[in-house]
Amino acid sequence: MKITPVTLIEGDGIGAEILDSTLEILDAVGAKFKWHRFKAGMSAFKKNGDPLPKDMLANIHETKLALKAPLETPIGEGFRSANVRLREEFKLYANVRPATSFIHHRRGTDKIDLVLIRENTEGLYVGVEHFIAIDDDPKAVAEASGIITRSACRRIAKFTFDYAIKTGRKKITIVHKANILKALTGLFLETAMDVGKEYGKELEIEERIVDNTAMQLVINPSQFNIILTTNMFGDILSDEIAGLIGGLGLAPGGNIGKDVAIFEAVHGTAPDIAGKGIANPTALYLASAMMLDHINEKNMADNLRNAIKKTLKNKDDRTSDLGGTASTKEYTLSVIDNLD
Ligand code: NAD
Repeated sequence: MKITPVTLIEGDGIGAEILDSTLEILDAVGAKFKWHRFKAGMSAFKKNGDPLPKDMLANIHETKLALKAPLETPIGEGFRSANVRLREEFKLYANVRPATSFIHHRRGTDKIDLVLIRENTEGLYVGVEHFIAIDDDPKAVAEASGIITRSACRRIAKFTFDYAIKTGRKKITIVHKANILKALTGLFLETAMDVGKEYGKELEIEERIVDNTAMQLVINPSQFNIILTTNMFGDILSDEIAGLIGGLGLAPGGNIGKDVAIFEAVHGTAPDIAGKGIANPTALYLASAMMLDHINEKNMADNLRNAIKKTLKNKDDRTSDLGGTASTKEYTLSVIDNLD
């Protein structure tokens, strides 16, 4: 295996803990990466006044591949989300979030094996919003604009249908709210359905309204194979799906663009447990497995996923978010033991 350079983004909260654990795992699996490690997020902001240091961005432009721990974003006020800025900077238009039932989930029998693909650059998350003052209240009204373009809809639809064919998945559910947001998500639905016509023979393509999808996911999640949706709906539904498979600690994501890919855990910085040595690093392991797939090291990726599966079978070996008692360190060692 050739040595692949990767930018490593440490982030905030539990970031360093889960990143160190992931590096141990990747070493044990035999992956050959040259890591370029940077701090980003709130810790970088406090140091340099910018949550995304310029030398780190320049490094990602060079490596074209990054593994990212979560970054803190201040709520309500303060700097704009560094995650959103990263997606914009590198035009990471596709957010791929696979969800697999590694443990028995609360509703019992359903085996979940689905991938949510979210348009990552448009919709209500473009950040076009402002307050309108009335009398002495400067925030009497808040106004936000969502922006969706046909070209971005075509791009994400094509990415999704190609991804389905490449990974052997057959059914795609396009999720929208075109009954109410007729322009904003109507254009998304119309364009995705239109692109789908080119794939009609190979794939089963259906559409569903987002609120119904949210309920169907709880009642019968195994009916879904791939969900294709807009930025905000994808953000919300992917956390719901993570809840169905045992929590955010098991949910990885890949942000994919034409040239650059950044892999991450879906969860945030978990400030409530940071520094306690109990964070679940699995989501970042699974993100690394996606990164191994991305560089065509499928055997290593499968070895890692199988070791995680084996480890999670034993309740005692799980971290506390999954009902176990293992520390991050103990869990890391168990996964290493279970590697082939
Ligand atoms: P969070 O995901 O950090 O935490 C939600 C809950 O899940 C907490 O109880 C936390 O302890 C738990 N949790 C999350 N990851 C866990 C793990 N690996 N192991 C065990 N438990 C885990 O969400 P939040 O509290 O809403 O956000 C905290 C910060 O993270 C905010 O600043 C937010 O902006 C940021 N955030 C960053 C990203 C990212 O960088 N991709 C994603 C989401 C949130």
